[in-house]
Amino acid sequence: MNDATSSARDETTRGPWMTPAQARQLAAAAGDLYFQLREADLARDTDPDPARRRAGWRLDLAAGGPHSAAEDLLDTADELIRLAARRTDACSVPWGVCPEHGATLRSTAGRCWCTAPGCLRRWFHDRLGEPCAEPVTHRVVDADGDWLDLCDGHAIDARTRIINATVIPLS
Ligand SMILES: [Zn+2]
Ligand SMILES: [Zn+2]
Repeated sequence: MNDATSSARDETTRGPWMTPAQARQLAAAAGDLYFQLREADLARDTDPDPARRRAGWRLDLAAGGPHSAAEDLLDTADELIRLAARRTDACSVPWGVCPEHGATLRSTAGRCWCTAPGCLRRWFHDRLGEPCAEPVTHRVVDADGDWLDLCDGHAIDARTRIINATVIPLS
């Protein structure tokens, strides 16, 4: 990796507002808070004073906040890492496709899957909502001669969407 590439990569890894490492540190802090609240909640069950035992009824609710914060921060770190790992020759389309079937993805709640019959591809992140990270494999030329280099899946999609498109495999 040359200097220009590595500094470009540092730039994308660092990001303007949070690094993956910082997101994971915060997730660990939230996880620690969650653990302390759960411990206190368990310990209050052994309190002989019923009024004091009752006073801790909110602990279980309180623990839910840091638990979901930890999950969200870990997902944030993972997404930043995926973005930083995109190859320099990655397809430039800002959303994902199935590498074999094209625009057949559905996603919900941070999960994504291909809806093409018989395709078993699943992703445990929102592939559809993130920039395409597949390597460029085809040049798609439209009727005006304008061209765009795309991955397998986006080339399939362009074939059906762009009228009179010519799709040329790149060697
Ligand atoms: Zn598929
Ligand atoms: Zn693509």
